[in-house]
Amino acid sequence: MPLPNTGTSSPVTDPALKSEITDILMSGFYFLIFPRFIETFFRKTYRQTALNNLKINSVYIVLTYALLGALVFLQLPYEELGAFPLCYALGGICLGLIAILSSIKSIHHLYHWYTGPIAMVGLVTLLHVSSTVTNPEIKLAAYAGSIYAIITLYSMLKMRFFVVTFWSHFAGLIHLFILRFTTNEISFISFQAYFVTANLIGMGIAYIIEHRERAMFLQGLLLDIDKIEQKQLYGDLEKLSREDSLTCLANRRYFDERLEQEWNRCRREKRPLSVILLDVDFFKQFNDFYGHQAGDHCLMNLAKALQQEASRPGELVGRYGGEEFIILYPNIDEEQIQTTLQRILERVHDLNIEHQTSTVNTMVTISLGAATAYPVRSIPSERIVTSADKMLYKSKNEGRDQWHSTQLSHCEAQPSQLEILP
Ligand code: GH3
Ligand code: MG
Ligand code: MG
Repeated sequence: MPLPNTGTSSPVTDPALKSEITDILMSGFYFLIFPRFIETFFRKTYRQTALNNLKINSVYIVLTYALLGALVFLQLPYEELGAFPLCYALGGICLGLIAILSSIKSIHHLYHWYTGPIAMVGLVTLLHVSSTVTNPEIKLAAYAGSIYAIITLYSMLKMRFFVVTFWSHFAGLIHLFILRFTTNEISFISFQAYFVTANLIGMGIAYIIEHRERAMFLQGLLLDIDKIEQKQLYGDLEKLSREDSLTCLANRRYFDERLEQEWNRCRREKRPLSVILLDVDFFKQFNDFYGHQAGDHCLMNLAKALQQEASRPGELVGRYGGEEFIILYPNIDEEQIQTTLQRILERVHDLNIEHQTSTVNTMVTISLGAATAYPVRSIPSERIVTSADKMLYKSKNEGRDQWHSTQLSHCEAQPSQLEILP
């Protein structure tokens, strides 16, 4: 049986159900029934397996049946033919009907409903034809054929154990009923010998098959859950490796990685790239006065505000150090960055976080430095951060709560000329 390819959308591959599924697997499920939430899904999967099985084998089964019938027909003496051709043809029709119905997609969900009764009719006809033979040798062969048919029914159609058991016994009852009203003589010994024994063997086979299918189904689910968990874990680890735990912004390592990527992209596309570096003013005093926890809270609020200033594709806010943040702006030139710098400065004013011990304002302020470049191969991406840092230093030196920006001098020429620089 192929493992159930349930996909992540299936409710039974929810990792929360892992222990429940393991418990079911350990319990042995000897009564061939799972709790409701999983049973429905199992039946659907099992039905699909049965249908796939039939799709592959139906032509082979019908042809073998026809060939076997033709052989028996040619071998049987004329006086023994009796109801054989009619009954055998009826059995063949039943088999063909199951093969045809199973190929109709819209009634796939009815598989167990039509296979049971049709198989039952086929079995009754076979049992009947066996009972009409009078030649003892041929009768023995006919009984052997019936046993073969019963066992095939149990093992090939992949009907659920209880369903196939019900319909096979029902076939036996009808056969007895027909015998009672046609010949009036029932040999219970021979009935027991071939029908009951064949049924017991068939039931054993069907039970083992279904039990094994159920175990493999559960193992398949656990495997799917493991895969989902691994994927989640990998995702979580990846997120952790690039995220700052306090602000949930990109950490420095991830920011540098992205800066390098965007630097190369802007170089290929001959577009500008800007970086803003910003630092909270007198944050040490803020911590000393309001406490470290209030300081953390302040950093989180600042991070949220900054994130609103980097919403376009490629833009990224990172925490560069303790109370230092950095923003990456691909495709933004110096003029545009100056508007952004002013907007960020005002956005932090608008937060209106009280800071009594600051000498520049009564609320928290920041100093900013920005640098713009037309990236070229000869200049490393870190250079833009160094330039932005110099501008930040200038803002601090000139009184804080302000911004300064620059354009990298090596890159001031037109992009086409830059590529030929050493
Ligand atoms: P300046 O205006 O020159 O930047 O002065 P400053 O006090 O902001 O700078 P300084 O480098 O002297 O102090 C930075 C402070 O930031 C010191 C440190 O305790 C605080 N800090 C760094 N990381 C964190 C953090 O994660 N949480 C809190 N609450 N404080 C932090
Ligand atoms: Mg600092
Ligand atoms: Mg500071």
